[in-house]
Amino acid sequence: MKYVIIILQGVIPMTKTAIVTGGSRGIGAATSSLLAANGYNVIINYNASADAAIALKADIVSKGFNAEVYKCDVSDSDEVNSMLEFCVSTFGLPDLLVNNAGIAGQKLFTDITDSDWSRMLSVDLTGVFNCCRAASKYMIKKHTGSIINISSMWGVGGASCEVHYSAAKAGVIGLTKALAKELGPSGIRVNCIAPGVIDTDMNSKLSEADIAGLADATPLCRIGKPSEVAAVVEFLASDKASFITGQTISVDGGFII
Ligand code: NAP
Repeated sequence: MKYVIIILQGVIPMTKTAIVTGGSRGIGAATSSLLAANGYNVIINYNASADAAIALKADIVSKGFNAEVYKCDVSDSDEVNSMLEFCVSTFGLPDLLVNNAGIAGQKLFTDITDSDWSRMLSVDLTGVFNCCRAASKYMIKKHTGSIINISSMWGVGGASCEVHYSAAKAGVIGLTKALAKELGPSGIRVNCIAPGVIDTDMNSKLSEADIAGLADATPLCRIGKPSEVAAVVEFLASDKASFITGQTISVDGGFII
């Protein structure tokens, strides 16, 4: 029996488990779907969008892949710890964490309130910290794992009227670099993606003229698709990226070069 199991393990790819925060909409939904299609059991995390999460799970399962949904606010460390326990009891120890959940906001710097600042940092930076801390405890036990944090080109270049967002996203890049150094000896890779303007609800408040202007400022002359970010998540998570850690990969059509 022992020999049969060893032979099968050599032939059949082992299923891996991924958690995608904010996994039911936009970039997160594209990522959840792509990872499921590539053999991951996916925990689709959501906070407010229960219907979208349930519909996405149904779509993934209808295609013969595995997914579960889990409600949790990533800014709440107790909820995040419970999500990890749910992951372990449902699919096993996590192999991949995609920190995608995020909020944005545009305001003059002098109009940013204490509460604007606090909520932005709580979701976009502390949320990443909470999830990395909770997941890495399990990954260290396995001595393997991959963490992919979704930052933004504004975390690299800074955006006028988005100082709190830019600061949080720059923090994500710093967290990624430091954590890659600390977790590398435990066999865990930590990378970051800095998307440019991507066609999701996050940009739904922008006017057509604003979107056209951003497309004009992009060397590839268009805004990006969620699937184009998901493809890089899938690459960074794969063995093709086995010697890549601590990096921030821009997926921005050349906006920031
Ligand atoms: P989106 O369509 O607005 O989706 C945001 C996602 O984050 C939703 O699934 C939302 O889930 C989740 N989320 C928000 N607050 C949460 C919380 N407290 N706890 C758990 N989940 C939460 O935006 P998107 O464009 O796909 O953005 C995904 C990531 O890419 C974000 O980190 C964003 O900053 C980054 N990004 C986006 C762009 C862009 O142009 N779209 C560019 C650069 C970087 P619920 O609806 O369930 O709350």
